[in-house]
Amino acid sequence: MTALSRSGLPGLDYALNPYMGCFHACIYCYARLYTRDKRVSENWGRVVIVKENLLEVLNSEVKRLKRGVVGVGTITDAYQPVETVFKLTREAVRILLNNGFRVSIQTKSPLILRDIDVLSASKELVDIGFTITSVICGRSRQVEPNAPCPESRIDALRRLSKLGFNTWVFYGPIIPGFNDDEDTITLLVDIASETNSVLYYDPLHFKPFMRNPKHPLHPLFASRTFQERITRAINHLRNECLERGVQCKGGFEY
Ligand code: SF4
Repeated sequence: MTALSRSGLPGLDYALNPYMGCFHACIYCYARLYTRDKRVSENWGRVVIVKENLLEVLNSEVKRLKRGVVGVGTITDAYQPVETVFKLTREAVRILLNNGFRVSIQTKSPLILRDIDVLSASKELVDIGFTITSVICGRSRQVEPNAPCPESRIDALRRLSKLGFNTWVFYGPIIPGFNDDEDTITLLVDIASETNSVLYYDPLHFKPFMRNPKHPLHPLFASRTFQERITRAINHLRNECLERGVQCKGGFEY
């Protein structure tokens, strides 16, 4: 097993995923497609494997690998509920920062606040992004059943921003009929503006597992207005960002 794998994601040199699988169980999650272990990928949201020797492997890798940017939690949320017990993310981030690697953390969990002490020690090497797909908890539960409510993510974002961390918001996936409305967009721009965060957006990408007629996103496949609604939402978002002086980028634009 390796701890750091090469990343093809924009802006990242390496990926670090302390857990395989994710209890947050988002119905749109693409990570299951990149998870080789079938016990996890075929039971997405119900099985999480802890990489118990991660820290040992990482300690040896950081000595020989070139310094770079490490995406923490690219195919899991590194702040899983089990992280409260295992503390693998906390210790891995500490090792990376102590060895001069930059870390870019994307999460849906306020559990990251537990690690403010570790992150603050090398603030200039850290950026932190929160995925916020809706600002209403009841609504976000429809697509992210076990993830912490957006209110708690927004509070955590505010706190980290006030502490001077480089923060960002990820508005994705944009799902017509769920979060493409103007009120959601305005509130997200408000939050990004208040916290001085870059706002990234990304539309829903259709994946084979969504083709199952029982999948809740299946009806969107047949929707003739899908693309039109996505375009309208992105245009609205871009205009609002421009008016408010918020930096706004496509999730895969750099
Ligand atoms: S939090 Fe991220 S990794 Fe976890 S299920 Fe949701 S989208 Fe997938």
